[in-house]
Amino acid sequence: MKSNALKSIKIPTDWAVETVLPIEFQGRELVLEAHAFQGDSDEEQIMVLIHRGPGAEPGTVPVVRVHSGCVTGDIFHSLRCDCYQQLQAALKVITHEPLGAIIYVPYHEGRGIGLFKKIQAYALQDEGLDTIEANIGVGAPIDSRDYRLAARVLIDLGMNDIKLLSNNPAKEHALKALGIRIVERVPIVIPPNKFNRRYLDTKRARMAHKI
Ligand SMILES: [Zn+2]
Repeated sequence: MKSNALKSIKIPTDWAVETVLPIEFQGRELVLEAHAFQGDSDEEQIMVLIHRGPGAEPGTVPVVRVHSGCVTGDIFHSLRCDCYQQLQAALKVITHEPLGAIIYVPYHEGRGIGLFKKIQAYALQDEGLDTIEANIGVGAPIDSRDYRLAARVLIDLGMNDIKLLSNNPAKEHALKALGIRIVERVPIVIPPNKFNRRYLDTKRARMAHKI
């Protein structure tokens, strides 16, 4: 069943495509199902990687990571955040489960403020502001991520019931409000480093992240 919030999003008729994507992961080759979804605006695109093991049966509850794109972290392995480590941890979990998926949302870069403003906010953090104060400093919301398209994608994939890989209760609540049943929230524990300790402390103290 779709929630009212989901009915409000527009999607093109040809909005889903599918292929196979072999990737290198931890020194071995991994073949995953790859799907792409097109939202209403050009920038709203989502990529989904699915691991379907031999144990996957109809009714198997998938473990799912809804991952916000992070150019600095995911591509360049920046140590200012924990995105890369979270993505790697999520890939490891989904490939060890009978059914697992990464819902990768590039336009959630910088918690939805985009690459430019994120780097601008980093510059303010260099002057001593924390991640929330810095977002306010660049005139951006603390978190402007919209999960409607991600929820619509999950429903399209038949993943209405999921085990959510996340430390972020706000993400869990947002998906629940959009009609996704979170059977379990599975935390991802990443040890902090000297560059992201303050960022992770802020996420814990001011954004209620369970880390
Ligand atoms: Zn990041």
